[in-house]
Amino acid sequence: MYRCSLCKTTVQSNRPAIQVIAEIRRVSYPMRVAAIPLRGRRKKKGRKDDPGGSGWEAARIDLVCEACLPQAEARLAELIAAE
Ligand SMILES: [Zn+2]
Repeated sequence: MYRCSLCKTTVQSNRPAIQVIAEIRRVSYPMRVAAIPLRGRRKKKGRKDDPGGSGWEAARIDLVCEACLPQAEARLAELIAAE
């Protein structure tokens, strides 16, 4: 049992709760030198670099019911298009 974050109604206990991304943010992680230890036969060669990167990250995830799923997905599509 849970409360849908869009229609605010309590959902019956045998119905699935669907997680939908409600907010997104742009993130970038810098390169890190010698961050990842090598494993196995390459172990003696030390550590390798983490290349870092940039993209999108979920800032908030909501629980929605099946009836509100199309609406929630449309909101997410709007968020992605606006950024
Ligand atoms: Zn709902």
